[in-house]
Amino acid sequence: MEAWRRQLNDRVSAFPVAKAGPAHIATLKTFDPPLAALEGRRFRGVERRGKRLLLPTDDGELVLLVHLMTAGRLKMLGAGEAGPKTPAFALAFEGGSKLVLTENARKKRAGVWLLTPEAAQEELAHLGPEALGLDAAALGEILRRDARRLHPLLRDQRAIAGIGRAWANEILHAARLSPYALSTDLSDEEVERLAAAMNEELARGLELRERGASDEKTYRVHNRLGEPCHVCGTPIAQIDFEEHTIYYCPECQTGGRVLKDRRMSRLLR
Ligand SMILES: [Zn+2]
Repeated sequence: MEAWRRQLNDRVSAFPVAKAGPAHIATLKTFDPPLAALEGRRFRGVERRGKRLLLPTDDGELVLLVHLMTAGRLKMLGAGEAGPKTPAFALAFEGGSKLVLTENARKKRAGVWLLTPEAAQEELAHLGPEALGLDAAALGEILRRDARRLHPLLRDQRAIAGIGRAWANEILHAARLSPYALSTDLSDEEVERLAAAMNEELARGLELRERGASDEKTYRVHNRLGEPCHVCGTPIAQIDFEEHTIYYCPECQTGGRVLKDRRMSRLLR
């Protein structure tokens, strides 16, 4: 997300909005203020909060909030450049450039909200601290608050902002921790390892994204079922948990144990 933010920042603020929309009915989440209220206004740039991108107008009246979820993609098109036929959301700028949001998924999950600055503040108030830059002391406090399994805890935006399911897989592998380990069971040394892995993995992802790397090149554990672990060569395993598929290395992360579906075997972790 940070890589996207940097790429978009200058381009969205270069010209005022000429036409706001069209927007897919499932994508645009607000109707008041109307989307047309953006027309004639210029964005100040792009800010990021967790996985959300914020585009405040330079008059301080409105904020466009974008959440791409898993499959949403934002793209800036130059004047005359061909884009998708039916984007989930589009903004045309004076001068001819366009910002388009596409979502290549049957179920539309990405969202766009047009809000007043107060409403945007409200919307973001429940977000936890940013993952990138979080140190071991701050992470330790979050982990010890409640006994929770690490994978869902890392993905919980109220606890820590900015980690999705793919990066939770990458981070836990780098930290050599089980996705099912309980947050309150971690030793100080393990908390430090997790904080270091979180920062190193997110920084690695940011650098690769800025160079335009594909998911395939970026992820080393996520979506790699059966492929050899890049550290030890053991085939990567997967387990379904709460509608998510978790990928992990049984050798590096779970002491050689293969995790069982929790619905089948409640005691295992
Ligand atoms: Zn391994």
